[in-house]
Amino acid sequence: MSDPSEKDTLSRRGFFGVSSGALAAAGIFPSASREDQQPSQYNDRASSTPGPTNTVLDAANPNSVFPPPTDAGGIPPFKYPFAFGHKRLHSGGWSREVTVRELPVSKTLAGVDMRLTAGGIRELHWHTAAEWAMMLYGSARITCIDSAGKSFVTDVKENDLWYFPPGIPHSIQGLAPDGCEFLLVFDDGNFSEFETVLLSDWMAHTPPEVVAKNFGVSEKAIARMPKQELFIFQSEVPGPLEEDRRRAAGSLGPSPIDFAFRTLEIPPAKRNKSGEVRIIDSTNFKIATTIAAAIVTVKPGGVRELHWHPNADEWQYYFGGKGRMTVFATGGRARTMDFETGDVGYVQKTLPHYIENTGTTDLKFLEMFKTDKYQDLALSEWLAHTPPQLVAAHLNLDKATLEALPREKTVLMPE
Ligand code: MN
Ligand code: MN
Repeated sequence: MSDPSEKDTLSRRGFFGVSSGALAAAGIFPSASREDQQPSQYNDRASSTPGPTNTVLDAANPNSVFPPPTDAGGIPPFKYPFAFGHKRLHSGGWSREVTVRELPVSKTLAGVDMRLTAGGIRELHWHTAAEWAMMLYGSARITCIDSAGKSFVTDVKENDLWYFPPGIPHSIQGLAPDGCEFLLVFDDGNFSEFETVLLSDWMAHTPPEVVAKNFGVSEKAIARMPKQELFIFQSEVPGPLEEDRRRAAGSLGPSPIDFAFRTLEIPPAKRNKSGEVRIIDSTNFKIATTIAAAIVTVKPGGVRELHWHPNADEWQYYFGGKGRMTVFATGGRARTMDFETGDVGYVQKTLPHYIENTGTTDLKFLEMFKTDKYQDLALSEWLAHTPPQLVAAHLNLDKATLEALPREKTVLMPE
């Protein structure tokens, strides 16, 4: 018989129909050492898949195909790619969503990925959920009025955020040269982007004589209003920001509330050789009272340390690189899943997890929480602030190892 490492390689070759070397070169297995970390629990034939399989999905999900031996028990999936979503196309852009209907575990938050062309408008609307957003590409003009009726108009670019509370009417429009794409996060897993209060839809479902009376104009003057919703539609790129601001403000003046947040203008809460984390919640983004965020970059070889969140479920959006996450779910159950750009992940409140960069480029993702304040607790800070004899008695560690453990929350390792 050949040695175990060769058997493992043979198994992978049989499985994927190509050599593991080719897979490593393609970045599917980042390095030979990663492969060695994923030995089959059983023998060569036990881990093979001789029947039909989806080789593309298998290659993208090595931790499902070859689960780490520490994985155990049944845990429902906690990943859903936006790429599976129905893309609702319009002349001015598109949208697709990941809600509790696509990903049943994601009960507290839902996400929408939206594209608007230059001049494309997500029409004036509001909804019962709060909306948190991050610009992923390009630039847009956003508008709303606050609860006192005062206007807010600003332009946002890549990495900028906005937050609109429930019932606050707002719009988004793509700017030159190529519009925008952005991620929306709502504080309700059951939210649907297709069930919002739209200006056009409202008018189309109000008797025209009432609309005319409401505005003090003739029925003829409103006869050309849309008979059905616009949702997203193509229009002209708006003019100068200051002009829009002045005209929207009118005699009331602009809103004193800043509904937007310039992420890159705050320093990271943590930065070391393994990456950086920015934390944005109601302490620095005052209006964002129901949704907190951490924007995380993990360098190749780094890991977002073992931790948990005592106060909220975590909804994740991956927007760069590749990684894996194990969620430990009590009762000896644990599952590891692979993530890459465009995936949504989810971790229920208090369940321990880590996120490891398994690729060769920076891993970038959002951690989103339905809460006013970001909170996490790390394994290292827990053990560091527990009597050492007590920790040693549990983990069977010698004194030197115990003293080598990080003394505080590191967030990202290695430091
Ligand atoms: Mn909205
Ligand atoms: Mn987390």
